[in-house]
Amino acid sequence: METFSYVKAPNVEKALASADGAKFIAGGTTLVDLMKLYVETPKTLVDINLLPLDKIEKLPDGGLRIGAMVRNSDLAWSEEVKKSYPVLSEALLSGASPQLRNMATTGGNLLQRTRCMYFREPSAGTPGGYGCNKRTPGTGCAAVDGFNRMHAVLGTSDKCIATHPSDMCVAMAALEAVIHVEGPKGKRTIAFADFHKLPGETPHIENALEAGELITHVDLPKPVEGAKSTYLKLRDRASYEFALASAAVVARVEGGHIRYIRVAMGGVGTKPWRSREAEAALMGKPANEAAFKAAAQAALAKAKPQKDNAFKVELAKRCLVRSLKTATATA
Ligand SMILES: Cc1cc2nc3c(=O)[nH]c(=O)nc-3n(C[C@H](O)[C@H](O)[C@H](O)COP(=O)(O)OP(=O)(O)OC[C@H]3O[C@@H](n4cnc5c(N)ncnc54)[C@H](O)[C@@H]3O)c2cc1C
Repeated sequence: METFSYVKAPNVEKALASADGAKFIAGGTTLVDLMKLYVETPKTLVDINLLPLDKIEKLPDGGLRIGAMVRNSDLAWSEEVKKSYPVLSEALLSGASPQLRNMATTGGNLLQRTRCMYFREPSAGTPGGYGCNKRTPGTGCAAVDGFNRMHAVLGTSDKCIATHPSDMCVAMAALEAVIHVEGPKGKRTIAFADFHKLPGETPHIENALEAGELITHVDLPKPVEGAKSTYLKLRDRASYEFALASAAVVARVEGGHIRYIRVAMGGVGTKPWRSREAEAALMGKPANEAAFKAAAQAALAKAKPQKDNAFKVELAKRCLVRSLKTATATA
């Protein structure tokens, strides 16, 4: 780890004033790892643990405001989240371990970086190290010709095939969350779908944040009346493991037909993967296995498997079909 200076910000104003060339540290559960691996080498850490951003509040329009410093455990076990947004609670509880969730924050989870082993290799992107366009643009992508069992099949480019690792973000994509940020140019909001970026030609640009911007909170829209939601995560072992494939579904069925549907997938995309193709295939259709299978087919139609991860295509389809069955079950 390289040396760095450390500042504890007492309020948002001070945090923003200290942010130039610095990194915010929240739970530290991923940033400190990345610093030890020389992936991140900030000169200054601005500790944001004193900021008053740790509340979960009902909004007047029926939505929910989640402070950026709300811990993953507190969010998952919130009565309001369990009752009105079960998909989010289930996604959070499927991630990491209880100890990590007690530290990890909403803002930090949004900004966690890929677990691609080439990206996390200390020498990646340096002469003699593995190529990694995320670490150093123009050095190539070792994963494309390397071992890529855990890598993405959707949203990849020839520059990067790294999977986005978050579970929470998959649920938030299906819930159409809105991210609020504050920075040197003031406050703004970013729709969840626009927050994470596809790798394209610039895999080192991972999100829509500008230099020095702080995530202050995330808003969830009012729960959809009569809708049910669920999160299913498939992985190599039952806990403490990242997804091979996951699905978040929010659905409302009336008279046996699907009248509202949101679908997002994890473990398969280079960003939390909202599947508008699956939604289009399901909307207005009878809630039955044939429709679910057609939606899964549509969701994965553009999948580009690599040499070690073709199994993810079928796995993701089955994951989605099972989630759709759960979310639309009438009993
Ligand atoms: C062993 C292990 C297993 C894990 N398994 C899973 C899993 O199965 N599923 C899953 O989803 N996640 C998993 N995680 C990741 C975990 O969810 C993240 O480490 C955690 O959510 C990050 O939150 P944090 O508050 O600790 O972030 P930090 O480490 O403090 O920060 C992460 C990044 O976010 C930035 N940041 C933090 N807060 C803000 C803010 N408010 N505004 C702007 N920038 C900010 C930091 O500068 C940094 O770049 C795992 C982690 C570990 C170590």
